[in-house]
Amino acid sequence: MRTPRVAIVGGGPSGIGMAAKLKLAGIDTFDVYEQSDDVGGTWRANTYPGLEIDNPARYYQYRFAPNPDWSQFFAPGPEIWAYIKRVADDFGVTPHVLLRTRVAGAEWDGRAWLLRTEDGREKTYDFIVTGAGVLVHPRVPELPGLETFAGACFHSAEWDHSVPLAGRRIAVIGNGSTGVQLVNGLAETAGHLELYQRTPQWVWPFPNHRYTRMTKWVYRKLPWLNLVAYRFWQFLFEASFGRAVVKPGPMRTVMSAMGRLYLYRVRDPDLRRRLTPSGAKPLCRRIIVAAGFYEQFERPNVELVDVGIDHVEPRGIVTADGVLHELDVIALATGYHGHEYLRPMELIGQGGVRLSEVWDREPFAYRSVALPSFPNVLMMVGPGSPIASNALMGVAETQQDFAMQMIEMWRRGEADALAPSAQATERYNAERRAAYPSTIWASGCSSWYIGADGLPNMWPWLPKDHRRALAAPELSDWEIERHAART
Ligand code: NAP
Repeated sequence: MRTPRVAIVGGGPSGIGMAAKLKLAGIDTFDVYEQSDDVGGTWRANTYPGLEIDNPARYYQYRFAPNPDWSQFFAPGPEIWAYIKRVADDFGVTPHVLLRTRVAGAEWDGRAWLLRTEDGREKTYDFIVTGAGVLVHPRVPELPGLETFAGACFHSAEWDHSVPLAGRRIAVIGNGSTGVQLVNGLAETAGHLELYQRTPQWVWPFPNHRYTRMTKWVYRKLPWLNLVAYRFWQFLFEASFGRAVVKPGPMRTVMSAMGRLYLYRVRDPDLRRRLTPSGAKPLCRRIIVAAGFYEQFERPNVELVDVGIDHVEPRGIVTADGVLHELDVIALATGYHGHEYLRPMELIGQGGVRLSEVWDREPFAYRSVALPSFPNVLMMVGPGSPIASNALMGVAETQQDFAMQMIEMWRRGEADALAPSAQATERYNAERRAAYPSTIWASGCSSWYIGADGLPNMWPWLPKDHRRALAAPELSDWEIERHAART
């Protein structure tokens, strides 16, 4: 068996999972490049009050590392971060992680990849596996005068913990998953909390129950139970949300009705009207899962502001009706540039083709994992991955297992350079484009899913179709090169 040299870009959930799988396969010759000062990816970056996972924690875990100790059904962010760090330690990945090391790019020399870091180091690899994340680049809104605000202002992904919050006047701009979680996280602490809502959203207030010590003990004694729970929630989520987003039919009707029904938790009819989405259908954007959100507006210190923002001045926000809202803190829950996959890293593939040019208009991939002319590059949670309503961990694991199959082929000497053909990639993407009209994302709402080409950059079929597509490489779709033996 040959020894593959593997570079993993990103020490988030996908990268750490990939590294653990390499370890499990007995491969030690890999490095994990992480630009920040710790592993954990989005769970390291996001530390805002109220952060929790919006899938059941038992479904948002590596299948090879079931965690008996989840404290809640939807686990808090710090707990997930600690879990990923623990997995990195337990599976021997931590010594392979190069922290504060940003990959500038890599170039294919006809046999292998020469990778360069921003601080000028170079190393050669047989494979590059990317796990650089999707929601990485914060979107800061262009609000006139924002830079003149005299208080503290920061994006949710760059929370400034030195800023005191207790008793202060806080604005949350944006009511996506982040803004809603922030309202839950800040309502009790803030002196006055304002949620700036531009477009009402659909909210599913699933209760978030705590697990007892007895439950944790049982899951520790019977680890297989954790996997049963994983499969149970996977089945339920895929049969409901996973189906409703891509297939018109009764499930979509039921899910829509549930979204409407939940609004009746808002007792004040006027507030309910203001919180009711007018155009967008339920599920057209990522569902917002947050128990207790509607009830926060019953507190005297929490206010919904649904008049547009005119400008910001040193004392606070001035809304379109001329009212000045005096503030101490502005939290921007305004989302991300979600189509900047891998950027600003540059890959130069076969024939000098540059990733930045190939993805000039909109990123795309072959079955979410690979690209023509970029042999031995495998992407985790890349363009067109089924992440709109599924737990990212499971999606990444499917892709990691696929990458492992490619690496094992190389290891056995059956291939040296593997890339999907341009024809297979074009055929797959034509099928993808043809499938979009029946998805809920194409029903007319704006969302971060929609790319520069006007199409949602998501997997437009069922989650199980993604697993089938990556169960084994369809070798007729791949261009496979053999080189003279390497010593
Ligand atoms: P988002 O869903 O893109 O929402 C951004 C919000 O900011 C929207 O309400 C948007 O209003 C508002 N906004 C943007 N620019 C604005 C402006 N100039 N003025 C006023 N409002 C403005 O972002 P997000 O909430 O950060 O969520 C992004 C994704 O992260 C989610 O889809 C989800 O996948 C993920 N997420 C997951 C979790 C989790 O628990 N796992 C938690 C948080 C986030 P409009 O609606 O009018 O555009």
